[in-house]
Amino acid sequence: MPLYDYKCDSCGHTFEVNHRMSETPEISCAQCDSKQVRKILSTGGILGSTKMGQSDAPAPSPCAGGGCASGMCGLS
Ligand SMILES: [Zn+2]
Repeated sequence: MPLYDYKCDSCGHTFEVNHRMSETPEISCAQCDSKQVRKILSTGGILGSTKMGQSDAPAPSPCAGGGCASGMCGLS
């Protein structure tokens, strides 16, 4: 379930709420209980998950497993 950041217009408190993307539950401020809250763009949650597809871990070398069949590594 995605995590959304909300900011309270009354006191400026920011907090996170878990709810389904299709739902817009009535959110009240966790600090002052005001209903004047707005969704703000989260740096985590959905944006973070889209980055997961492009891992910055290096691709495993084919030579590391002894599977180099191209002869380009010069180790075989
Ligand atoms: Zn508040």
